[in-house]
Amino acid sequence: GATVEARRIRVLDPRLANQIAAGEVVERPASVVKELVENAIDAGSRRIEVDIEAGGARLIRVRDDGSGIGEADLPLALSRHATSKIVSLEELEGVASLGFRGEALASICSVSRLELVANAAEDPQGGWRVVVEGRQMEPRVTPAPHPRGTSVTVRDLFFNTPARRKFLRTEKTEYGHVEEAFRRLALSRFDITWVLRHNQKIVHQLPASIDTMARERRIGALLGKGFLEHALHLDLGAGSLRLWGWVGLPTHSRAQADQQYFFVNGRVVRDRLVAHAIRQAYRDVLFHGRHPVFVLYLEVDPLIVDVNVHPTKHEVRFRDGRMVHDFLFSSLHRALAEARPGEQGDHAV
Ligand code: ADP
Ligand code: MG
Repeated sequence: GATVEARRIRVLDPRLANQIAAGEVVERPASVVKELVENAIDAGSRRIEVDIEAGGARLIRVRDDGSGIGEADLPLALSRHATSKIVSLEELEGVASLGFRGEALASICSVSRLELVANAAEDPQGGWRVVVEGRQMEPRVTPAPHPRGTSVTVRDLFFNTPARRKFLRTEKTEYGHVEEAFRRLALSRFDITWVLRHNQKIVHQLPASIDTMARERRIGALLGKGFLEHALHLDLGAGSLRLWGWVGLPTHSRAQADQQYFFVNGRVVRDRLVAHAIRQAYRDVLFHGRHPVFVLYLEVDPLIVDVNVHPTKHEVRFRDGRMVHDFLFSSLHRALAEARPGEQGDHAV
């Protein structure tokens, strides 16, 4: 007969369910930064400040001047499957916001000490604070002055899940991941002013930049000046597709694929179809084993791309992958062929 006796089935208590779900979206401090900043972007912020202490293991704070959150909605913001971004399947299909799953804050607050202060009104005294710690506490809402916008502070990530805390690496490594997340986010929105501080020191201060020159200053600050000295600027459209950005000349390839940024409608993605199209475009001009550098923006009708493929939304699925692939390949292939070889020097890094 059976050696294992049937145990009773129970519904998980919600905080435990959140901690389990947190495994999917909260891998390390950098994932918290990504989720908090994406919320700030979705709230229409013009300025976003990120503060990090001890690589993010001690403290992560994201401050924005976006829409804020009203008092009545504050506890909901921290509940699972609670979102202001979609209400229906139709809205999901055309979703333009970065978030829509209503899981990030619930997950993060189940594995940290989280404080959220927000104000949805113009009155600078009119803010509200909510604090939650790990699994024990029900959110408590108290008045707290805050300018219009939201500040979320996440302390002691994984303090109550020691098995996961153990997986955090050194401060330097975790900070490196945070800075990379910040880099992607700051590259995704030139129209937002960004600040990054680590241990109270400013690492990046990037004013909103509308024209190409100002954008290139930001690229230089984030990726190093060398990046643009050996890159082409392009801006191409076909039908409802637009591709713009900067691609490195083949002579400026790298040993690692570490400077490759591809955004689809403002969302950074790693996509096999995209990677393949780019690789093909460089195939005849790049030495074997070398990797091109690029910062590219693909803009498409949200209806032709499905972003609900993965919890971290790093993957997307195009309705017509063939068409997107061909557009990317031919745009890049042409741009690279037109670049006069030798003109920009031949520095390989
Ligand atoms: P999602 O982003 O998928 O909706 P989250 O758990 O990240 O889920 O956030 C839950 C809700 O909290 C959001 O839908 C939004 O209404 C609110 N929210 C979170 N962060 C902010 C912010 N910085 N500014 C305004 N609203 C926010
Ligand atoms: Mg979110």
